[in-house]
Amino acid sequence: MVKTQTTTEMNNKPINVLWFRRDLRLEDNTALYHSLKAGLPVLAVFIFDKAILDKLKNIRDPRLLFIHQELSKLNAKLKEFDSGLSTYYGKPTNIWEAITSTYNVQNVFANSDYEPYSRTRDNQVKEILKKKNITFHTFKDHVIFEPAEVMKDDGKPYTVFTPFSRKWKTYAQTLSLESLPSEQHLSSMMHLDGGDIHSLQQIGFEQSDELQFPERKIPTTVIKNYHNTRDYPFIPGTSRLSLHLRFGTISIRKTYQAAIQLSEKWLDELIWREFYQMIIYHFPESATNSFKTAYDRIAWQNNEEHFIKWCEGKTGYPMVDAGMRELNATGFMHNRVRMVAASFLTKHLLIDWRWGEAYFAEKLLDYELASNVGGWQWAAGSGCDAAPYFRIFNPESQMNKFDPEKKYIRKWIREFDTDAYPPPIVDHKMARERCLKVYKEALSG
Ligand code: FAD
Repeated sequence: MVKTQTTTEMNNKPINVLWFRRDLRLEDNTALYHSLKAGLPVLAVFIFDKAILDKLKNIRDPRLLFIHQELSKLNAKLKEFDSGLSTYYGKPTNIWEAITSTYNVQNVFANSDYEPYSRTRDNQVKEILKKKNITFHTFKDHVIFEPAEVMKDDGKPYTVFTPFSRKWKTYAQTLSLESLPSEQHLSSMMHLDGGDIHSLQQIGFEQSDELQFPERKIPTTVIKNYHNTRDYPFIPGTSRLSLHLRFGTISIRKTYQAAIQLSEKWLDELIWREFYQMIIYHFPESATNSFKTAYDRIAWQNNEEHFIKWCEGKTGYPMVDAGMRELNATGFMHNRVRMVAASFLTKHLLIDWRWGEAYFAEKLLDYELASNVGGWQWAAGSGCDAAPYFRIFNPESQMNKFDPEKKYIRKWIREFDTDAYPPPIVDHKMARERCLKVYKEALSG
């Protein structure tokens, strides 16, 4: 149901509000469950944050279209219970002023978000609500363990993955995950007449017919075989659930339960996700600064022509180019290839990891600040990684090892093996030595 700040509707009956954010599902949703059990009718809201939307350059941005599609589904389902989703468009603090002036709100329920922007926003909203005697309840839902739950014995946050994952797994052994049947209590939603959510046009976007999103389903067979297939980009050997984990269209608890039954290796990847959530929470400055501060002394070359060639997948290094073309065409890139492409940009081309991070942020369907910054800083050597910077991926050997028959390469580079395919923009040996020299100078300074 579209709501504007000028709405004149006034409702004096006490209600609770559920604020959907990165948890766009009705099943097994912690905040939704608790809101529905709290004894008052529940108004479900979603806010299209103008500040975030204004930054999207593409009026058919697939992430926005995905969110809109999922909100439409939520709204349709809620209508079956004579309710609906109320969407708003603007600045969250202004919207909350408006909601709380329109309705007699007693409590607001939401699932926690650990990214710096979201935390600041939530603190501001909390203050607004507090002034009106409204309690803001937040819940763990996006992760199995919150950033402050898995800490070193001395109480400090981990900065290396392996000991973090060990502790994470120890804690997980004692875990009994509560199932939260939020979908069974939807009759407690507030009654709303008709209405629809904001259209894409109303928020400045357009529909696209070409979109295809990965299935919202745990691919059991793929995961059972994950340890054998995960590194080969020509095989559909990974779950493709990243988009759904990002927007909460699948529950992390269900995902975790599948991992426990099916694959320890896959569980490790889910723990990587939590590791980076933990890092961005405790070290929010690492979103823009090198985690290891000495790495901000690196004399990046930042050659713009090279950067454009990298973005377009025309570096003459097939593994990098195939990955970038896959990204540009689909919004996805296989993890192995993300590592190779990111390493190539930072180490072979000596381009600041922040440039690559920003490009991935613009293109990736599953873009998530914590994992993207984590992945980029890992590739640049500046992040949370025990490996020394002088371990530099050789893009040629990576291709020979992980795409030996060049199936992935040929899929994305049609002109491969023809004269139309460009020669390498840098010589591997030269680039490797240059990188070692520049990194060494920065780190010994
Ligand atoms: P699977 O292999 O099936 O893994 C299952 C889930 O575990 C993923 O869906 C994801 O949620 C999580 N996961 C897997 N690998 C990682 C990892 N290395 N770090 C954190 N979480 C992980 N992942 C994102 O979700 N968003 C990003 O913006 C992102 N940017 C990246 C940038 C770089 C430079 C690198 C090297 C990696 C990045 N990753 C990012 C991690 C990883 O590449 C993707 O999560 C994975 O490729 C998604 O495919 P999948 O769902 O099939 O993963």
